[in-house]
Amino acid sequence: MNFNKMPKIDLHCHLDGSLRAETVLDIIKKNRLELTQSLEGIRKQLTAPLSCSSLDEYLRCFDLPIAVMQTKEDLERVSFELMEDAAMENIKYIEIRFAPQQHTKEGLTTKEIIQSVLQGMSRAEKIYDIKGNYILSCMRHLSAESAMKIVEEGKQFIGQGVVAVDLCGGEVAGFCHKFIEPMKKAREYGYRITVHAGETGIGQNVADAIELLGAERIGHGVFITNSREAYNLVKERKIPLEICPTSNIQTKAVKNYGEHPIYDFYNDEIMVTLNTDNRTVSDTTMTEECIQIEKAFHLKKEEYTDIYLNSVEAAFISEDEKQKLREYIK
Ligand SMILES: [Zn+2]
Repeated sequence: MNFNKMPKIDLHCHLDGSLRAETVLDIIKKNRLELTQSLEGIRKQLTAPLSCSSLDEYLRCFDLPIAVMQTKEDLERVSFELMEDAAMENIKYIEIRFAPQQHTKEGLTTKEIIQSVLQGMSRAEKIYDIKGNYILSCMRHLSAESAMKIVEEGKQFIGQGVVAVDLCGGEVAGFCHKFIEPMKKAREYGYRITVHAGETGIGQNVADAIELLGAERIGHGVFITNSREAYNLVKERKIPLEICPTSNIQTKAVKNYGEHPIYDFYNDEIMVTLNTDNRTVSDTTMTEECIQIEKAFHLKKEEYTDIYLNSVEAAFISEDEKQKLREYIK
């Protein structure tokens, strides 16, 4: 299959993990930041090696992008560029997530931060054949109050380019209990809910995310393999898993593409979707993820179509918009 040409959908892509190295250098120079001034040095800091030792080491690659995403202009730019990069490889729909809490270092308000990325997104939508929406991620090492603040301040953008909230960052057992209140509020306001869970060995977190937080989708979820309860919940309720194979190898969730459970899940009628996680940190694209999975499992055209249609179903959009996405793969 020529995956570059095929229509694709990315439901799990972090803005800060998907910056162009050239842009990072540009912003460092423009804002006179005391940071690496060489493109090679920047590339090294932005990309995790396949031999990364853990999720925590992987997460360190986000320090530099966060440092250059602190003004309205720069946020607008990186948002536009991610849409542009996605459109160039025929991604037809993308849900981009980011944590507004990370972009207040120069005094921007949550409202200004969200407005800026939405402007970048809509500028790209006018030029390219791609649609996007934003997911507001709340960092789970921070307090429930801090998540509540994002839920409150982001709600005016629901339906204006913001569709959901997410919890992300390092994963500890039982983290869901802390966020019951903000996620309940989020559901009341009309946000859709997706939660990173089961990325680092703790399958029970997936069951918690569904039962305690009302998660409609799960970021990763690879470790439902070690929790019967989580596995059954995901299967029976048809909760889509946002699978990001390369990222899972880098964080040591799986050894290699061939050992990724995505294909077993698929064959057991679990609703899997295929995504990038972080284009720059994982040094990947949707095309690349598709190629690796095709290679590892001899994926057939009908199987790719199934996975694409799972993404359509799982997308936080209207039925009309879903219909448009289905047309692309006919
Ligand atoms: Zn993620």
